[in-house]
Amino acid sequence: MDSCPVCGTATTTDNLAGFQTFQCARCSTWRLDAGGSVMGSALLANKLGAWDRASTHRRSRLSHLIRRQQSQNEDAVWVPVQELESWRLDDPLPSPSEQFDNLILLVGDRQPSSAAWAVLEPGGISAWVGAPITGSNEELGWLVEQGVSER
Ligand SMILES: [Zn+2]
Repeated sequence: MDSCPVCGTATTTDNLAGFQTFQCARCSTWRLDAGGSVMGSALLANKLGAWDRASTHRRSRLSHLIRRQQSQNEDAVWVPVQELESWRLDDPLPSPSEQFDNLILLVGDRQPSSAAWAVLEPGGISAWVGAPITGSNEELGWLVEQGVSER
């Protein structure tokens, strides 16, 4: 199994019509548009950088943006590596209070009824709310603890 070039989560990879497509539990299904280059993954890795603090931020933000663009019909989100600057990956992630609001809204949207549980994957929740990548979903535990103790 491969790992997602954005977040590092184990993922399955497809090469559909010459485009690499990733099915990532955190980011969702996304497709690398390398503008015809066969070096798409290398270009992306170069733009995101190694796993230092700045790179982890860019990866967290890209994962969040991909997840938010995922439509209900599960079509892959296109990630144009040569236009990645327009995605403003160095912008801040949602603040912890915005992340908590996003979490409440997500759970509410996904509950079949007020008496039924929403069934969600931790990685997907983390990307949706805009939490940073920690590699273990510990950011979600922290977020829920803060939300519960503040309210
Ligand atoms: Zn991913």
